[in-house]
Amino acid sequence: MDEKLTDAASLVELDSARARGTYRFSVVAHHIYLFSAIGHFLFIILFAALRVPPLALYNVGSTLLFLFCIRLNRRGWHCAAFSLAGIEVFVHSTLCAFLIGWTTGYHYFIIGIVPFAMLLPRSRRLVKIALSLVIFSGYGVVYFLTAQRTPSFPLDHAIHTILNFTNLGVAFGAFSLLVHYLYTASVRAEAIVQTLSRTDQLTGLLNRRGMQDHLASARSALDREGEPFSVILGDLDHFKRVNDEHGHVCGDRVLVETGKALAASLRSRDIVCRWGGEEFLVLLPGTEGIGVERVGRKLLDTVRQLRVACGSADISVTITLGAATARRDMEDDRLITAADHALYSGKKAGRNRFVMA
Ligand code: GH3
Ligand code: MG
Ligand code: MG
Repeated sequence: MDEKLTDAASLVELDSARARGTYRFSVVAHHIYLFSAIGHFLFIILFAALRVPPLALYNVGSTLLFLFCIRLNRRGWHCAAFSLAGIEVFVHSTLCAFLIGWTTGYHYFIIGIVPFAMLLPRSRRLVKIALSLVIFSGYGVVYFLTAQRTPSFPLDHAIHTILNFTNLGVAFGAFSLLVHYLYTASVRAEAIVQTLSRTDQLTGLLNRRGMQDHLASARSALDREGEPFSVILGDLDHFKRVNDEHGHVCGDRVLVETGKALAASLRSRDIVCRWGGEEFLVLLPGTEGIGVERVGRKLLDTVRQLRVACGSADISVTITLGAATARRDMEDDRLITAADHALYSGKKAGRNRFVMA
């Protein structure tokens, strides 16, 4: 399955902000530890080539440490993994500054701990601010201890510059990726909220709020271009009986299957929503008069022919439909009321029929 979908789906399943925060952190942390493990493995080769054995050896330990952090993170030991990784960054930059000089730029990675710390789950804001101050102070300590010192393994000026820019580049890249990830995650989360707030949970059709957006577009097409539109309000007949005779679960299944059947028998431009309990509203853009009647009769037949199997029962239902066509001077509320009146007269006349307002 698409990774984005899996990510979105797992986010929806997490039912608390705390769980979602932890999830976000563990995803970001996993990638950081993985890149760090790969990066430190490459450092082993680099420092061996530059003939700085203590750093090559140290990076063997660092690579293993980041692999261990991945394991800890997977098992939910987020803070432990974060602390180990943070300590590693401090020790690494101090060692590098001591042995090959501050200007090789390993200290940039200390700054990178700050945004990562801001994502720490289950931590109060005050703790995070304190943590940033500690990291900032640590940076200062490393600077004052090492910056003026003559390195034990002096390297060429050119190598200093290459290392400095490589480390700076990696730090830039990591910042950009982190912000990009958080941006994409928030946009995706907003899209999920948007979809959920407009979807009926039971039938998967649009809900009333979702339909209101489409009514507004149909309204503006009528006002701007004079394009007509109509609505059909449908209410299942004697639905209480379905629940009483077959139970609520079967009632629900009938609602789901009715929604599917109605949607399947409409044109692609038409929109159906679950307006309320056992009521459906259909929007027919660009349709009026005989066109509405044709759709209404088709929907009536669709529901008549529907058979819903539930347990040993084979349930059939009918629907009563009331339709109305919009006019420029008619607000949406009045349009729906007109369709509702037509529906009511259909109920009074014996149900299972289509009535035009
Ligand atoms: P009428 O032909 O006059 O519309 O009769 P009716 O029984 O359909 O009308 P009434 O409004 O008295 O009852 C509607 C029923 O729809 C009652 C309610 O329990 C049921 N209903 C509403 N929403 C749901 C739902 O989500 N699931 C189920 N199973 N039933 C629902
Ligand atoms: Mg009803
Ligand atoms: Mg009903």
